[in-house]
Amino acid sequence: MIVVADGAIVAVATDAQQIRSLLEAHAPLEVVTLRETEFLAPGMVDCHVHAPQYAYSGTATDKPLMEWLQHYTFPAEKRCEDVEYAKHLYGALVEQLLREGTTCVALYATIHVPATKALVDICLEKGLRAVVGNVCMDRHGGDGYEETTEDALEGTKACLDYIRQAQPGASGLARLVQPCMIPRFIPTCSPELLAGLGAMAQNADDVWVQSHASEAADQIKFVDSLHPGQRCTDIFDSHGLLTNKCVMAHCVYLEVGELDTFAKRGAGVACCPLSNAHFSLSPGWHAFSFHKAHARGVRVGLGTDIAGGYTASILVACRHAVVASKHDVDKDVDYKDAFWAATLGGARALGLDAVLGNFEVGKQFDAIRVNCAAGNYDTFPSAIHPCCFVWKSTSESSQTRFLATTRPCWLNRGETRTATPPSRRRVDGVEVDAMSYDESAANFDFRAGAARLDWSTTSRSSSIWATTVTSRASTFRASGAADVPLLHMFSRCIK
Ligand SMILES: [Zn+2]
Repeated sequence: MIVVADGAIVAVATDAQQIRSLLEAHAPLEVVTLRETEFLAPGMVDCHVHAPQYAYSGTATDKPLMEWLQHYTFPAEKRCEDVEYAKHLYGALVEQLLREGTTCVALYATIHVPATKALVDICLEKGLRAVVGNVCMDRHGGDGYEETTEDALEGTKACLDYIRQAQPGASGLARLVQPCMIPRFIPTCSPELLAGLGAMAQNADDVWVQSHASEAADQIKFVDSLHPGQRCTDIFDSHGLLTNKCVMAHCVYLEVGELDTFAKRGAGVACCPLSNAHFSLSPGWHAFSFHKAHARGVRVGLGTDIAGGYTASILVACRHAVVASKHDVDKDVDYKDAFWAATLGGARALGLDAVLGNFEVGKQFDAIRVNCAAGNYDTFPSAIHPCCFVWKSTSESSQTRFLATTRPCWLNRGETRTATPPSRRRVDGVEVDAMSYDESAANFDFRAGAARLDWSTTSRSSSIWATTVTSRASTFRASGAADVPLLHMFSRCIK
């Protein structure tokens, strides 16, 4: 059971006695009970989305990156000088992100200040946690989609101030919308612009930075023509823009020394496997390596990269991360790694893991409620039931039922087990699903009220709710449902 007050998790209970104590301590308490086919998971974190590009997502993937920008992207973004158009587009995007289970997103707007402010308003109104800013570009925009250096800096300052002032009384990491500066990428930002933004970043401790680094062969060639012998990481770092509130998209071609610089600065990477497939890959170079980045201590989350990617679903990004990693000579990413990257990993990449990513006391309760019985896929009660169970009071006078999705069973033991009908038994006077006391619980560490799963590298862990999700995949396999993909199922049933 999770107790939430003012949007934050104030307590987590994992056994009957704790639940009783919490109910007494926090009474009166509104109890929301999930059905047996439902579970909670941490809200998904999307580390890279271009809001204005939502208008053409799913189309226009027929050109290499630099041509694509000139031909499709900049004209589409230019339309957001019409703030009414931008409001319509951004409203649709924010609603779609929430439908996809994304509760936190790093958003690029355009060079237009009024439309950027509108995007901030929409996120606040609809309750989408976001890191938001106007895009800065003072060169190579083509066809009028660029601004002067002074206008870019002034516009950024105006947007940063607007975001702060739009949330009176809110500050710190728990603020719903965080102010961000966005030098689009090296080719569109003069050294003067980078220096001005870097100075702002160094003089404020509540400002995020987003940009792109080492994305594609043509982009890297262009950077080299502008800054001979220098790479994106060196240029951003020398201007003070690689900080612990910085997330750089793609980074497919980062060299080991650059990864070390990222780790040293605490900067994160938004891996966008779908758009990487469109724009980044070249002969002999196949995918961003999660393994290499983790090994160097770099924080990595996932991004859908609308519109380099065709969908706002971070779960689709999970699937593509798994598939793309098959070409990574270092090590595969499996679905657990991908799910972790889409939740706690993404929160870390954005520098928000102190308040997001799992269900620990003190964090924000950003959650998605998943109903496994709602999708258009085959489900089997005997497979689902043991994984998601309900604590029920045995007192005749009380009809109160409490959710306690603790102790999922059958998790990643590498065994093929036959699903069996659940049975119930009494523990501490409470009727529980017998499977919840399956010996597989021994796989978990229940310290501090939250189970932790060893994701195969010891530095990573996830919350009990994530383990509930992964347990479901194991159960489906065991029930003979022939590898019903967890993530496919998951994406169809978010409420
Ligand atoms: Zn991008």
